[in-house]
Amino acid sequence: MPATNTHPKKIIILGGGTAGWMTACLLEKAWGNKGTEISLIESELIGKIGVGEGSTPSLKLFFQHLGISEQEWMPECNATYKCGISFPNWTELTSNKDTDFSSYIHPFYSQADFKTGSAFMHNARLRRNGLDVPAHPDNYWLQSALVNADKSPIAKEQLSQSMDYGYHFDSALVGDFLKKRMLKHGVKHLSDTVDKVLLNDAGEVAGLVTKENGEQYADLFIDCSGFAALLIRKTLKVEFNDYSDSLFNDSAIAIQSTIDLQENIPSKTTSTALTSGWAWSIPLSTRYGNGYVYSSKYISDEDAEQELRAHIGPSCHGFDAKLIKMRLGRNEQHWHKNVLAVGLSQGFIEPLEATALMLIQHTVESFINDFEAMTATNISLAQQQNSYNLALNEVFDSVKDYIVAHYRLNSRTDSDYWCDNRNNTNHSARLTALINSWDQADGDFDTELTRHNAELTYFAPSWYCLFAGKGRFPDKLNAVPASTKVAPSADIKKYCQSVSKHFTDHQQQLKDTYGNNWPESS
Ligand code: FAD
Repeated sequence: MPATNTHPKKIIILGGGTAGWMTACLLEKAWGNKGTEISLIESELIGKIGVGEGSTPSLKLFFQHLGISEQEWMPECNATYKCGISFPNWTELTSNKDTDFSSYIHPFYSQADFKTGSAFMHNARLRRNGLDVPAHPDNYWLQSALVNADKSPIAKEQLSQSMDYGYHFDSALVGDFLKKRMLKHGVKHLSDTVDKVLLNDAGEVAGLVTKENGEQYADLFIDCSGFAALLIRKTLKVEFNDYSDSLFNDSAIAIQSTIDLQENIPSKTTSTALTSGWAWSIPLSTRYGNGYVYSSKYISDEDAEQELRAHIGPSCHGFDAKLIKMRLGRNEQHWHKNVLAVGLSQGFIEPLEATALMLIQHTVESFINDFEAMTATNISLAQQQNSYNLALNEVFDSVKDYIVAHYRLNSRTDSDYWCDNRNNTNHSARLTALINSWDQADGDFDTELTRHNAELTYFAPSWYCLFAGKGRFPDKLNAVPASTKVAPSADIKKYCQSVSKHFTDHQQQLKDTYGNNWPESS
């Protein structure tokens, strides 16, 4: 990267998976009209990861930022709407018998949830302190009511408040969609394999040697080469911070299954705990995407496939299984010398909360912001990179904390996998402090959350849903003193259900969004 703080003249993106094409879109939007030339090289010989079918609400902002409507992209990517994730079977019903904590929804909350969400957190606080108060999260959130009624997050009439929501999609088709768009916007595309990387005297990447098209030069290189991390780790030797001592899963099996479009289409991802990990179920407009994320130390690949097939049932007959090996962790540096790593090359936290595309987006958007800030000030490249990398590491580590908490708080006793996860204390001091403050009757969980607020990617409602959803409450509950104000759970549930009637049925909304492109049958 030249020390002169100007926009890069030429950028090469190595890799044409979702990370490569999302990065191309964001860079083209920011710098395409400032004279920056962008090329993308992808190999036909080296495959893409080819899974990744759920998003957080940040994907909505991504398409809005690019000016792409849902009517334009959703039909091309077999996409559906997502109001949240449900987590069945992470909890055993050994205690708390009055309430069924065997499943709960982590909703995408919005402005509309402000009051009812506060009521939920109030009740959870009381129950945490040993009072017999209803505190199952599903009763208090609009999007949980939408999920339970198979509704979309789109209101029949315009709302005064905005709704945050995510999507399900075929990740390969999203890549194709973005690629088509970028080719129209002037991004150059080379289908070739990079065999060798050239370095200059400063140890920066000078060029890429391809099999068929010779040497390719640029002043900024974006490493989107997936788990290979060809530029950032193999070439620049950036260190990897391994997460495997706190997150045990290292494998996944993905299998598709049929969908019956005559039936209601769920507006949620389901993440069901199995014996040695968890299984996702994601509804698309043409099929279900399913997968089992597990630890190979506890189950063989063959047994995992069998367990997944039994879990899905007959609708997956005839579909092949795809085995994926994962390495969980993150780079110590994401922007180093003249290379920015984006996507799996920068790190991966397992897909339990479907955060990978959100992290891709955040990585590129904050890179553009930081680069712009650097051009506007006298801050050095080294200083800028240092603060960028520290901030990004914090984001990765805080998402990791939230994922690790799912495992730590499980109460299953049916396999070593779940017991070992529950007993594993290899995690951050921050997560230890959050768990301790929740568990102690006089612990101030809110103060603990506030103390870490600036570092946490997930905010209080998500943490409350996680702890309360997993039934992390005292076994012995006391009667509520008359002077204690308890939020009326049943009334709030009814209220959320009545508001949900103002939202379109998910299937009907998809038909409206797809127009003539709605598939007649599966
Ligand atoms: P890849 O898709 O692996 O692409 C790598 C690219 O680099 C390819 O184009 C390849 O050809 C190219 N390449 C590599 N080496 C060379 C070379 N030498 N020369 C030329 N080209 C090269 N994310 C979510 O947001 N939601 C989810 O629900 C979700 N679920 C997931 C489930 C699983 C089991 C896994 C493993 C991941 C999941 N992800 C999910 C993550 C998501 O799949 C990835 O983050 C996303 O697809 C981006 O991948 P990528 O583009 O970094 O890498």
